[in-house]
Amino acid sequence: MDLPLCSFDLRTGIFCPRCSEKLERGLYTDLDIRVMKKLVELEKEFTKLQRAGYVRTVDGEDAVFIVLKEGSLRDLDFREQAQLRKILEKELEKPVRILEDAADPIKFIEKVVVPARIVAINKIWLPDGSEETRIILDHERNLKIKRESLIRVVEEVKEMKINIDFEKKLAVYGRTRRRGKKTTLSHEVMNNSDSSQK
Ligand SMILES: [Zn+2]
Repeated sequence: MDLPLCSFDLRTGIFCPRCSEKLERGLYTDLDIRVMKKLVELEKEFTKLQRAGYVRTVDGEDAVFIVLKEGSLRDLDFREQAQLRKILEKELEKPVRILEDAADPIKFIEKVVVPARIVAINKIWLPDGSEETRIILDHERNLKIKRESLIRVVEEVKEMKINIDFEKKLAVYGRTRRRGKKTTLSHEVMNNSDSSQK
């Protein structure tokens, strides 16, 4: 496997000067080390991992996101990916998502949010001159990970600040409908869904 740290160091737990320097610079966390160490071990069982590359691991709110280089998962079939995920979940004691990086940050976000879809992207300039990207997803229902996790993964992997919104939301409509002002509100809902389908 293509790793940013020597696989020998990962196995022994003693880091050479080059790897130590990377760790001192804070490029990789203890979690990265744990995941890389486990992946090196797993190469024996999952030989296709030898052609994979490691990018980084992000500890999200509700899951650990293991990001591999583009094309790393190509050779692993669905069953092998599920097995790999299960082993890593047992090791890390948290749900795990294994995904591939993409050179284009938007393509990467598309992979993270699946089965949700991106419907619009806007750039926002903040008063301090920094930039934030507003990503609008199709429906809150389709985002299966926590919003905070998504923001963290994109920030750590792509160094990009994002803000998430949805074209259609869950709670608001549900609550207003139950409150009884049925007719006008349900019309609004219907109009919204009409316009979004175009
Ligand atoms: Zn080393």
